Amino acid sequence: MQLTADIGVDLGRFAQTLEASSRIGAGREGGLARLALGDADRDMRDLFVQWCREAGLAVRIDELGNIFARRAGREDDLAPVLVGSHLDTQANGGRFDGIIGVLGALELVRRLNDLGHTTRRPIEIVNWTNEEGARFSPPMICSGGFAGVYERDWVLARRADDGPTLGEELQRTGYAGDAPVGGFVPDSYFELHIEQGPILDAEGIDVGIVTRAYESHGFRVQFSGDTAHAGPWPMERRRNALVAAARLCVLVDDIGWDFAESGGKSTTARLVAWPNKTGIISDWSEVNVDIRHEDPRIAAIMAERVLRAVGEAAARAGCTGEIVERWNWGGEFFDPGLIAGVREQALRLGHATRDLASQAGHDAYFLARICPAVLIFTPCRDGITHNHREDVDMERLRAGLDTLLHAVGARADA
Ligand SMILES: [Zn+2]
Repeated sequence: MQLTADIGVDLGRFAQTLEASSRIGAGREGGLARLALGDADRDMRDLFVQWCREAGLAVRIDELGNIFARRAGREDDLAPVLVGSHLDTQANGGRFDGIIGVLGALELVRRLNDLGHTTRRPIEIVNWTNEEGARFSPPMICSGGFAGVYERDWVLARRADDGPTLGEELQRTGYAGDAPVGGFVPDSYFELHIEQGPILDAEGIDVGIVTRAYESHGFRVQFSGDTAHAGPWPMERRRNALVAAARLCVLVDDIGWDFAESGGKSTTARLVAWPNKTGIISDWSEVNVDIRHEDPRIAAIMAERVLRAVGEAAARAGCTGEIVERWNWGGEFFDPGLIAGVREQALRLGHATRDLASQAGHDAYFLARICPAVLIFTPCRDGITHNHREDVDMERLRAGLDTLLHAVGARADA
């Protein structure tokens, strides 16, 4: 059965649900600071699980704390259609981000419940743990674990700046589930997310369909030097790891500017040094580097320059530099069939669509490695994101929610 085009989500109910989420883990005014597996994330998870149970869903939690909420299908042994995103946020995060993807999935299930419609395939909502990577680096590690990209034990051993490992925080918050990680191949994966860029807002288009992702290279770089007294120690004998890190930050920024005209970006978002105290030279430092470009060949050239910059920064400060971890994603990995399905449903509902490249990382990238996946973008005001001023126009978001409802419904009934 196909849902008729006049059927849409209950936007009032969705807004109330989002409002309740927006009160958990308040950050700067209007924003959220709901870092993965902190107390606020735990409270949000508890409420989300309660909502899922109230909607008649069977909830299970895997060993990485990923939450799956299942709505049975008429042919319940078929592989489920998986729909979701993440409820965690950055330290200065917004109220929408991936939250709309998880709560949008909940609203679509509630709507199917209202209609008394059981789809052929089961539908499972998913909330991925630690998408942001704001507490446990790198990002998207638990969807990556599900997709077999990362080993379970490696993910559990990731350590937060504030001390505990991801595994310890899962235990503490009660989200160390017993379902095995992965272990099944979904029929398909749908994710709704705000665009996190200005294109849809500027062009007045409400449904963005992601066809590819910017090539991204991540590096964790460490420098080693020697501690010494800031006073007597001669300049020519200094091996200041903080200086090496600072030089790398400037060199990496230069790379971004050199490729800015063609849309290249470079970021050093984080610098840590030890002992990082007044009056002493630091003997250890760590910098995270991020390089992005739409063209994978240019991204590779930029990444090559990062390697040289690490050597140059280390040499200038008399230190040694090492890349201790590297990661990379990007390309065209979304399913042409699902993309066509989303476009067809959006047009049937009267919404114009636009194909986009995603510049941010998303759980959908890893899911696309194991099953057909699609990522739908909805506009956010002026593209502002990872910022407490992140905002969306609810009427424009409705278009994305309705498209998700119809696209998932059609797939689950196919
Ligand atoms: Zn997100």
